[in-house]
Amino acid sequence: MRCEIIAVGTELLLGQTIDSNSAWIAEQLALAGLDAHFQTRVGDNMERMVSSIRLALERNEAVIMCGGLGPTQDDITRFALAEVMGSALRRDPALVARIGERFRSRGREMPGNNLLQADVPDGATPIAEMPGTAPGLICPVGDGVVYAVPGVPSEMKQMISGTVLRDLKLRAGVAAVIKSRTLRTWGYAESKLAELLTARIEALDATGNPTLAFLASGIEGIKVRITAKAASETEVGKLLSEEERRVRAILGDTVFGVDEQTMESVVINLLRQASLSLATAESLTGGLLGARITDIPGASDVFRGGLVAYANELKQQMLGVPPGPVVSETTAIHMAAGVRRLLNADVGLATTGVAGPSEQEGQAVGTVYVALAIGEQVEARRLQLGGNRKQIRQFAVIGILNMLRRRLLTIDDQPRAAP
Ligand code: ATP
Ligand code: MG
Repeated sequence: MRCEIIAVGTELLLGQTIDSNSAWIAEQLALAGLDAHFQTRVGDNMERMVSSIRLALERNEAVIMCGGLGPTQDDITRFALAEVMGSALRRDPALVARIGERFRSRGREMPGNNLLQADVPDGATPIAEMPGTAPGLICPVGDGVVYAVPGVPSEMKQMISGTVLRDLKLRAGVAAVIKSRTLRTWGYAESKLAELLTARIEALDATGNPTLAFLASGIEGIKVRITAKAASETEVGKLLSEEERRVRAILGDTVFGVDEQTMESVVINLLRQASLSLATAESLTGGLLGARITDIPGASDVFRGGLVAYANELKQQMLGVPPGPVVSETTAIHMAAGVRRLLNADVGLATTGVAGPSEQEGQAVGTVYVALAIGEQVEARRLQLGGNRKQIRQFAVIGILNMLRRRLLTIDDQPRAAP
């Protein structure tokens, strides 16, 4: 089923309103397994609207229009639709009653021109959802169909999520249930992920079900979205789980979570499972690490606390860091081991480095050392991070959380399933 989205409104062409409606609708169509090949924006002009609708119907089976259903002079979508359908407009008494009720329930008088919104082209059906005073319309044209919904985003969304998608799927004969599962990854660049998954994606292309898609999400890593369709929830669930297993087999433990899971929620779960408590010593990240951990409800089960040891004398006096270069593996190691002892925790994490904008101790901006102490074992890693000060600090946080995650997965050399 090919669909086109037409957003109506001169303000869209003037750049006064950003056409977020089309983006949202396009995403819903993609999630529903429907093809959206074209997006058009057209001003509030009768002739150009009519020709846009005709063109859209020539190259697609379905058209979704948003905007221009209001009661004012420039709202002419219903007239353009009547023209394309070759129909006259008729006032729908049921709509007159519904619109009148909307005003009465808010204790307001209905202005006369709101009655215009009850005018429906012959052959069109009003959309059941009507959160405002503008009725949406389903307009059959030959073998095709045009759905018209209001421009107000909340009203548009209710109608698309309800009647429009249901009706489109019915027409397309799309299987009843479509679901996605998102695998969250950290560690590979998008190009590397694509390379690893190419063979699998090509194999899936043969059937088109399930499908795989990438979504780069900056410091949140890269998401791999699996979408499957089937006749029932159970079957969709089975398809998703089978595909998840295959993708995990290819990507290994770069997959840190699923759907709503975050790096910190996964790490907290792993710590909880292993009955380990955590303490942090932060220099470069200045408390960001502790903040991300305590963002998760229930973090108090495992997080004892942290020390923001920014001044060198604090690092030395409180954490036992020996004098010497601060941006170094030695400092990171002593900070991690020191805070673990000081705060009486099982695990200590530490960050030190150069966030910029200028270099420090002759070390380049983005040079970061992170360390992890578990019991008496301490390991450190040097990270070379890109970006501005803010990004370097954020990457350092997720980098050390990921290091802890991988360590916890192999604790006692016993591979453990991710939660
Ligand atoms: P009504 O809801 O009365 O039928 P309408 O359909 O004519 O109105 P507009 O009056 O064009 O819609 O716009 C109403 C609101 O919706 C405005 O705030 C506008 O910014 C917003 N809007 C309209 N079109 C879009 C769009 N394509 N993307 C995002 N917002 C939009
Ligand atoms: Mg408008």
